[in-house]
Amino acid sequence: MKETRSTCPYCGVGCGVIIESKGGHITGVRGDPAHPANFGRLCSKGSTLHLTASPVMAEQTRLLQPMRRLVRGGSLQPMAWDNAMQLASQTLASIVRAHGPDALGFYVSGQLLTEDYYVFNKLAKGLLGTNNIDTNSRLCMSSAVAGYKLTLGADAPPACYDDVMHANCLFIAGSNAAYAHPILFRRIEDARAKNPNLKIIVADPRRTDTASSADLHLQLQPGTDVTLFHGMLHVMLAEGWVDTAYIAAHTEGFEALQTLVADYTPARVHEVCGITPEQLLQATRWFAGVPPHSTRNAPEPAWRTLSLYCQGLNQSSSGTAKNASLINLHLATAQIGKAGAGPFSLTGQPNAMGGREVGGLANLISAHRDMSKPEHRAEVAALWGIADVPSKPGKTAVEMFEAAADGEIKALWIACTNPAQSMPDQATVRRALERAEFVVVQEAFATAETCAFADLLLPATTWGEKEGTVTNSERRITRVRAAVPAPGQARHDWQIVVDLAARLAEEPGVTAHATPNNASSLGHLNNAPHGLHMAYTSPEEIWVEHRESTRGRDLDITGLSYAHLESTPEQWPMREGAAHGQARLYEDGVFATANGRAKFAALPYVPTAEARESRFPFSLNTGRLRDQWHGMTRTGLVGKLFGHVAEPVVQLHPDDMARLNLTEGSLVHVTSKRGSIVVPAQASSDLGAHQAFIAMHWGPAFLSGRDHQNKPLAGVNAITTSAYCPSSKQPELKHAAVKVLKA
Ligand code: SF4
Repeated sequence: MKETRSTCPYCGVGCGVIIESKGGHITGVRGDPAHPANFGRLCSKGSTLHLTASPVMAEQTRLLQPMRRLVRGGSLQPMAWDNAMQLASQTLASIVRAHGPDALGFYVSGQLLTEDYYVFNKLAKGLLGTNNIDTNSRLCMSSAVAGYKLTLGADAPPACYDDVMHANCLFIAGSNAAYAHPILFRRIEDARAKNPNLKIIVADPRRTDTASSADLHLQLQPGTDVTLFHGMLHVMLAEGWVDTAYIAAHTEGFEALQTLVADYTPARVHEVCGITPEQLLQATRWFAGVPPHSTRNAPEPAWRTLSLYCQGLNQSSSGTAKNASLINLHLATAQIGKAGAGPFSLTGQPNAMGGREVGGLANLISAHRDMSKPEHRAEVAALWGIADVPSKPGKTAVEMFEAAADGEIKALWIACTNPAQSMPDQATVRRALERAEFVVVQEAFATAETCAFADLLLPATTWGEKEGTVTNSERRITRVRAAVPAPGQARHDWQIVVDLAARLAEEPGVTAHATPNNASSLGHLNNAPHGLHMAYTSPEEIWVEHRESTRGRDLDITGLSYAHLESTPEQWPMREGAAHGQARLYEDGVFATANGRAKFAALPYVPTAEARESRFPFSLNTGRLRDQWHGMTRTGLVGKLFGHVAEPVVQLHPDDMARLNLTEGSLVHVTSKRGSIVVPAQASSDLGAHQAFIAMHWGPAFLSGRDHQNKPLAGVNAITTSAYCPSSKQPELKHAAVKVLKA
């Protein structure tokens, strides 16, 4: 029996696990008692990981050798790795020669390890010269990124998990942590047990398990969070509960925000959000730190408020405004930069943070640098040993698939993600995958829906087989370790990219962008004085280069090493000479902006992209179940995880069920402007009238969808909208206008 310390590959809590293996097979998993994210605990998903990794499962579900599809819709033919990579590199090269590098699109994943992410980003931006690399993290955290940068100056969650234990008030907005981040929710339960006076407020259109545990549930109308947050600031100003000294010393832009929120009266909050003035006052008192029964009507200096938020704020056509408006409240009350206080975005995926750190999105470059700044591009170019990094932002997730559907992008390279189920507006995604001249899917599971659209399938390793690092929601970097060898012919993601890069470098006219820049004054950063280096031989070698890219940046990890991570996961930053990483940011009141002051964001409320109207009178919300993960490629293999929820349903308010003459289990068509699905109805008083909820996980095996030309589509995203936030480009997966009709 061998034991290997690693991490859970599901949510952004980033729990440490101990993988038990014998004879090259994973036989068990348990929580790592030494890991600071979970101290030995695991949720239902994490504790059943080993059941997804048995040899029988591998035989039935894994991609075990490269496969080629000669005819679209035809059968797959196995091929040797060398032939597969030759086909891949020659086809990409011919497309680049004919149409330029922007005819390529790389769509990667927040489930890749940081090292995988780094080489993918360098391949696209450094070697090929296109910024067309984006990730499913766009669907997850890009509004949080935009909100942090707009207000605090950097994509850096300032708080940590331990802050839950120090808070007097937890403000949980758009997050069902009980399902989506269960081990963090256990910590919330511990905090409540330790401090019965802890106040928990939950803002959510649904009465989720998280909302049911709250002292105050603000059951607001879908998408109206900005009005709620501005209304809270309006009340704070009226009552004199803002911290004027902190605002004067550490922020700017408060006057414009003050003017804006003057119109967000309690009456307007009631009208827009459906929150009563009494609820608004109660929530504002607790947030600002005016304890219940206080006779002073002033915030307690020792009071601490911590906000926890997730996709309810992020997956929105006004996601940046929602994030920034909540951060405004923390700045106005000085609830930031101290134990138990601060805005804390919860990461959906296990390594969405790591992907952002290496700049693996269409608008970012390495180490949180800004693509639009010439000096930042010059630093990255110098590090990579090339003349420049392209300045034109690449296509973000929705834009990339729209460009492929329009014929502008000719080749899609998809790694470790399943857009044929997870992207909104599946009709467009399907058109993209059908129209693209060449679709490569680099994937561990043959059962992922996107595999059906691949011209070339490349088998990749997955949990328990890979080495590298991930970063969880609280900026904590942990080593991921292999417990067993790769099955079949599967290769590590970074190895596939390194092989592709070597072959592309031999192709004439393809890598002209990556000309050496030996004359750069930043040549000291260059680890490859003779041009771009991609011939990595280990994840550690990649990580060391990434570490160097962070020097002097907000996420500086120059004090960290793989050797240190072998024993201790650490939070960034951890600068050279530091013994440990930093638990909290902005404790000195100096922010990551040019002048060190945080900036209030005066952004008005904008309704959801699609309004309910007579033809589509329901607001559809989507979200997670407790015991499933994403498109169920992994959790769908574990029978007992169906014990919680066995099949897809659309939840509707009992009054709507009665009005539509539906009984429990009646089949209904749920239809939007883009498509339709058929699903059983379930009465639930947890959501309001004219609202509907469908879990996001169910693929076509469980939930059949059609577009309006009657073509089959996968799951609930047959009907969701790809409308996105103009700043973050994150799509509004949390709201679509639909109609519900008895089938
Ligand atoms: Fe895995 Fe998240 Fe559960 Fe932890 S809380 S065991 S990281 S799914």
